[in-house]
Amino acid sequence: MTSQTPRDCLFCKIVAGEIPSDRVAESERSVAFRDITPAAPIHVLVVPKRHEPTVGALAAASADDLADVFRLAARVAELEGVGDAHRMIVNTGSDAGQTIFHAHVHVLAGAAFTEGKMV
Ligand code: 5GP
Ligand code: ZN
Repeated sequence: MTSQTPRDCLFCKIVAGEIPSDRVAESERSVAFRDITPAAPIHVLVVPKRHEPTVGALAAASADDLADVFRLAARVAELEGVGDAHRMIVNTGSDAGQTIFHAHVHVLAGAAFTEGKMV
């Protein structure tokens, strides 16, 4: 699996404030900001401050950081007014569409989802 060191990781730079982002929420362990290329009217990325390449690696490294990412993602959905109508997506591996190898959850809402299909 492709991996990046925190030094050249885009999301580490966003977490550190070295690259600007449209932040919508933050917790002690995680940061939420709007996706630069939204795929739905509401499209927020929630990332752990700790660098791990995938959500699976994050789960293995820290259950607390993993839980915090999903807790903040749920809070973002509430803040955006879509607490009962959103989708959380995690891509793992470039073949599955992962382009940034710093764990993140997509929170998507505001568009009709494909009925009856998982993806
Ligand atoms: P992935 O494809 O790895 O699951 O998701 C990465 C996401 O990061 C993509 O949806 C992409 O639009 C978003 N993204 C890439 N570069 C930037 C950036 O510089 N700022 C923000 N806010 N989002 C970005
Ligand atoms: Zn990183």
